[in-house]
Amino acid sequence: MSPDGPGTGEVRVFSDYARDGRDFNEEADVVVVGSGPAGSVVTYELAKAGHRVILVEEGPPFTPQEFRADGNISMARTMREGGLRSTTGTFMPILQAICLGGGSLINSAMCVRPPAFIFDQWCTRFDLDRTTREDLDPHFDAVSEFLGIAPTPDEVQGPRNLLFRTGCDALGIPSEPVDRNVRGCRGSGECYTGCRARAKQSMDISYIPEAIKLGARVLTSLQVQGVLREGRRALGVQGQVVEPFTGRTLHAFKIRARWVVLAAGCMATPVLLQKSGDLANESGQVGQNLQFHPGSAVAGVFPQDLSPIFGGTQSYQSLAFLEEGFKLETMWSAPAALAVRMPGIGAELVKRFSELPRTAVWDAIASTHRSTGSVRSRFRSMNPAIRWQLHPEDMKIMLRSIHVLAEIFFAAGAEKIMPGVHGLPDELHSAEEAEVLRDHPIRPGDLVTASSHVFCTTRMHGDPAQGVVDEDGRCHDFDNLYIADTGIFPRCPSVNPMLTAMALAHRQAEALRERI
Ligand SMILES: Cc1cc2nc3c(=O)[nH]c(=O)nc-3n(C[C@H](O)[C@H](O)[C@H](O)COP(=O)(O)OP(=O)(O)OC[C@H]3O[C@@H](n4cnc5c(N)ncnc54)[C@H](O)[C@@H]3O)c2cc1C
Ligand code: SF4
Repeated sequence: MSPDGPGTGEVRVFSDYARDGRDFNEEADVVVVGSGPAGSVVTYELAKAGHRVILVEEGPPFTPQEFRADGNISMARTMREGGLRSTTGTFMPILQAICLGGGSLINSAMCVRPPAFIFDQWCTRFDLDRTTREDLDPHFDAVSEFLGIAPTPDEVQGPRNLLFRTGCDALGIPSEPVDRNVRGCRGSGECYTGCRARAKQSMDISYIPEAIKLGARVLTSLQVQGVLREGRRALGVQGQVVEPFTGRTLHAFKIRARWVVLAAGCMATPVLLQKSGDLANESGQVGQNLQFHPGSAVAGVFPQDLSPIFGGTQSYQSLAFLEEGFKLETMWSAPAALAVRMPGIGAELVKRFSELPRTAVWDAIASTHRSTGSVRSRFRSMNPAIRWQLHPEDMKIMLRSIHVLAEIFFAAGAEKIMPGVHGLPDELHSAEEAEVLRDHPIRPGDLVTASSHVFCTTRMHGDPAQGVVDEDGRCHDFDNLYIADTGIFPRCPSVNPMLTAMALAHRQAEALRERI
């Protein structure tokens, strides 16, 4: 703890630095880079322990008045590279936030604990001693209590979510309402473009304000560009002020701290390490082992009106197929984004839009452990070069998940589905027709896919020669440098990652508290 106790909490924004008009230096006990779910939990927990914490975020804060229920405008303002970031190798769009709160501001608030077998696999394959579900449950509990995480009640499900349950029940597939970090959700289905009701407990209205009350300082519009070091010790971070939405850079800054926590996300943290002289990379694993949960969405049209505008964005799910390699869930998004999944042009597309009130969209996320890639820094840019290759066996898992979704749609009474698989008809009209999905020969590029779940680029491993951080998130090659984002997952977790990232961050903060 600092001898002076906690400082005065505050949030600084771009106009503050523009007004000051000069380079600046700061000092703290701990500097945390990145205000997503992981960085926010670490910030709060360390501020609560009385440490002087500075949380640095490149993106700006958003107010409810700034949210627009327009997919394209929202993506351009809240997401990296205007929402157009993608992989090379196998092409896949990937969605990542740039805003106070990170992904939590624009995600659908699904909070899912991976079952025990996932963590058992992590422990066995990656030499981990204390990362079982039982080890992490107290941390899951602490985060869940703080955020009021609870199952979505039927009153805000709306027909498009409840029909998923109907279809699952008819086929004997276990399903459940999704646990979410919301308080007073109205079921407006617009989580991706920002919750105007402020029901979603994103970090900017939950952990971060509480951390500020405890003295944490939150400096937004600061792009960290490197970690300062001396031997095996990190000395702080340096970078530049960036203007929101334009990326124009202004003054330089340095923040000196005794402890440095990188929580800039699975793509940005390895780039920061690489740009700082290939830091923490004696293992050669920084930026390697990249994994995703590629998602496939299927749209189904029902005979009856579903008023799909109403209902939790993603509030029903089935974990029944996790061991086969996929998870099923419901979803909704702004119609401009849904249009990507609508085949046809001209009159045909207009007809599909006219069917939107009778349409539900359900998706699957796949555990593609065999499909890996890498993240490399680029010259004169903080944006990463991302390479990734979808493995043929993982493609089969994705196709199988689409087939199961088709079966659930027809069991729920859909009159047709749009499977979104190249080489197959645009529409399938019955479970029998959907049998073509069973053995369809599939190749890369045949599936419409995207991902917002990214992992493993600074993976946790008990053996310092094979991973970047230990079980507390401390870099094996450093005494005081920690990583706290989904990059430390040793493998994709098979379920939505936010809650696991927060639980691991909670454990990390506990370990840091002991050491500081
Ligand atoms: C549209 C969408 C929907 C999703 N839905 C769900 C869901 O319902 N449930 C779920 O579990 N998961 C969901 N996810 C995934 C989840 O949001 C992420 O896994 C989670 O946010 C990762 O947390 P993080 O702390 O690792 O990183 P992030 O949330 O990515 O936060 C990293 C932060 O670091 C900042 N940063 C990056 N580089 C720098 C730099 N150089 N200097 C300063 N700051 C920097 C970024 O701007 C960002 O704010 C979704 C994601 C998206 C995009
Ligand atoms: S469904 Fe609507 S009200 Fe509920 S959390 Fe999402 S955006 Fe907020």
